[in-house]
Amino acid sequence: MSKADLLKTLPAVGKIVDLLTDQGIRHIQLASIVRSVIDDYRMRLLAGEVHLNATDAICDAVICRCATATHSTARVVNATGVLLHTNLGRAVLSSRASDALNTAAATVDVEFDIATGTRGDRHANVSALLQILTNAEAAAVVNNNAAATLLAVTVLGQGRDVILSRGEMVEIGGQFRMPDVIEASGCRLVGVGATNRTHAHDYTNAINDQTGCILRCHRSNFDMVGFVSEVPSATLSEIAKAHNIPFGEDLGAGALIDFGRFGIHGIRTVQESVSDGADLIWFSGDKLIGGPQAGIIVGSKRYIDACKRHPLMRALRPDKLTLAALEATLLEYVRMSEGSIPFIAALELSIDDLNNRAACILEECQVGKGMAIDVVDSSCPIGAGAAPTVGVPSRAIRFSGGGAQRIHDALLAGTVPVASQLKDGCVLLDMRSIQPSDIDDLKSALREVITARSAETSQS
Ligand SMILES: *Cc1c(COP(=O)(O)O)cnc(C)c1O
Repeated sequence: MSKADLLKTLPAVGKIVDLLTDQGIRHIQLASIVRSVIDDYRMRLLAGEVHLNATDAICDAVICRCATATHSTARVVNATGVLLHTNLGRAVLSSRASDALNTAAATVDVEFDIATGTRGDRHANVSALLQILTNAEAAAVVNNNAAATLLAVTVLGQGRDVILSRGEMVEIGGQFRMPDVIEASGCRLVGVGATNRTHAHDYTNAINDQTGCILRCHRSNFDMVGFVSEVPSATLSEIAKAHNIPFGEDLGAGALIDFGRFGIHGIRTVQESVSDGADLIWFSGDKLIGGPQAGIIVGSKRYIDACKRHPLMRALRPDKLTLAALEATLLEYVRMSEGSIPFIAALELSIDDLNNRAACILEECQVGKGMAIDVVDSSCPIGAGAAPTVGVPSRAIRFSGGGAQRIHDALLAGTVPVASQLKDGCVLLDMRSIQPSDIDDLKSALREVITARSAETSQS
C-alpha cells in the first residue's frame, strides 16, 4: 500500500470524538487529545509499527490519556525512613483529625458564635486549647510557620531594628532565610555576636532608641558543636523587659511533649519557652506536633492581639480545614492520647514491633531462590528540618544483589506508589516511617516487584 493510501485508513478526529462522546467519555480537551493520539498513530503507521483498522486502538489510547491528563494528589507509601517528609506532606493526621476535616467540609462555625448567632473569633477554639497546653496568655494561628515568622517579626519589629545573633541567621530551606524575612517585614537586621558565640553584653550593647525587638531563631536543621555559647532565652527575655522592648522566639519544630521519653534529647518544648517569658513564640503545626500545616503563635495577649489586628493576618489566616484538623490534633494532647497521632505512634514502636511488621509484610511474598532480601538495622531521621542530628533506630527490608534503581522505580510505578530509599546499591523499605494502613498495599507492591524479578532471573 502506498503511504497516501495508508494514511487514508486513519479515522477522522470528529469520528473518534463522536464515538467516545456516545460512550460517555467527557474531557474538556477531548478533541485535542484525539488529535494528538491520531498524530502519534500516523507516525507509527508510517514506520510500519502498527496495523490498519486503528479506530479501537485510538479510542483506547484516548481514554487512557483522558484519565492521566490530569493528576490529582495521590497517596504515597512513605518507606523512606524520614518520619516527617516535607515532600510527602509531613505529618500524617490522626483519625480524629481526618474526621474533623470531613466535618469541616460542610458549613461550620469557623467564625460564628452559635450561642449568640453573631460573628465569632476564628482563633477562639484553637486558642483555648493552646492556652491549656502551653500556659500562654493567648494564641493565634496562621497558614504555616514561615507566615508566623513574617507576621510576628512585623508586629514585634515595628519597622525598626531587629537584633539577632549571628549564630541564628539560618536558612530554613526553599529561599526562606531569617535575614531576608526580617528585611521583608520592613525592619533592619542588626547582627550581634559571632557565628559560634554570642553573649548577653552583645545584645545589651546593640540596644538603642532604634531597636524594635530581640529575636531568637532556633537552628532547626543544623547543629553547632565545639567552642560555642548562646544566651538562654530567659536571659534574653529579662534583657528585653529591662529595655522595654519585646522578645520573640521562632521555635521551629515546636514540641508539646518531652521527646526524652523516646530517647530523643535536647528538644525544647513550647511550655519551656513560654515559661522563659518571650512575648511571642511561634512554631509549625506539622512538625513535631504531628498535625496539619499551620503556623502557631502563642504569647502575651497584647502582642497576640496586635497580630490578629494586623492586615497581614487576613492574608495569612488559616482556613476552616486547617483549624479543624489542628484542633483535633491538639485535643489529643489535652486528652493525653497523643499516641493516636501517627508521628508519635511511630516513635512508640519498639524494634520488636518493627521486626514483626517486616515479617508480616514478607510472609506472603514468594521470595525466590537467590533473591537477596533481608531485614536490617536502619536509622530514621525526624525530617522537616527538626532535630537534624537525631536518628531513631529502626528496621528495614533490604533488597540487595543488583538492580536497585529498577526496583526503586518499579515500587514508585506501582498501583499505590511506594517511596523507598536507595543506599549503597540496595533498596531499603523502612518499617517505622510507613503507616499501619500501608501494610496491605506494601505487601501487594512487593509481591509485584518480586514476581517481576523472578521472571527476569529465570529468563536470564
Ligand atoms: C520549619 C521552620 C520554619 C518554617 O516553618 P514552615 O511550617 O515550614 O513554614 C521557620 N522557622 C524555623 C526555625 C523552622 O524550623
